Amino acid sequence: ANAAPLLQVKDLRAWYNESQALHGMNFDVRPGELVTLIGRNGAGKSTTLRSIMGIVRKRTGSICYEDEELIGKRTFQIARKGIAYCPEERAIFSLLNVGENLTLPPVLRQGGVPDSELLKQFPNLRERRKSRGTLLSGGEQQMLAIARILRTGSQFLLLDEPSEGLAPVVVKEIGQLILRLKAQGYTILLVEQNLQFARLVADRHIVIEHGAVVDTLSAEELVSDMGRVKNYLGV
Ligand code: ATP
Repeated sequence: ANAAPLLQVKDLRAWYNESQALHGMNFDVRPGELVTLIGRNGAGKSTTLRSIMGIVRKRTGSICYEDEELIGKRTFQIARKGIAYCPEERAIFSLLNVGENLTLPPVLRQGGVPDSELLKQFPNLRERRKSRGTLLSGGEQQMLAIARILRTGSQFLLLDEPSEGLAPVVVKEIGQLILRLKAQGYTILLVEQNLQFARLVADRHIVIEHGAVVDTLSAEELVSDMGRVKNYLGV
């Protein structure tokens, strides 16, 4: 638990045109950790992921990954370092079938899941491999969106609300998938509104308000001190 951070974010500020969304974020993620970003709508959780990935480009401060500065780098350069991003809207190609969606991302680094293995690791998707993206359920789309990035060889996964809009039983399946990825050694930064889900999977929770970190809770604290969290989220 005391390993040097894999990702170190310092005084991160980010803007959409003239509108500032992040106001000095500070946090880090250690290798193999599973950390959630929690907070109200509009707090800046998605913007944090998009800033790390270089999708929001107007940003200052420091985002250090494996001792390399990501600020100033473009998304394709950041992807080549082994960071992958799963957006909230999942971005499945609706006219392509499951197999085609899976093998679309480029292999960027060694250590990616080979094509021959991908469908073996996702039996539900194997059954649907000929189905077009549009015909998949929300849960299947989310599985596919996560499975797809494993091909690239990325070891650091940015997942934006994988549980969103899914039935409880499907949320559980996604939770099991994420825990499996953690067991396989992936490091994961997860945006999550669903606290029941967050507490099932994460080691640590970072609370964001108005584009800044206001608190950090261990997995145990999220359970024992739910009042503290509900206070932030206004639930
Ligand atoms: P949500 O779960 O609602 O997406 P969030 O915590 O992820 O919440 P962000 O989406 O990061 O919040 O939004 C942070 C702030 O940036 C908000 O004030 C939001 O209105 C603004 N914002 C987000 N996306 C854009 C955009 N494309 N253009 C302009 N402003 C944006």
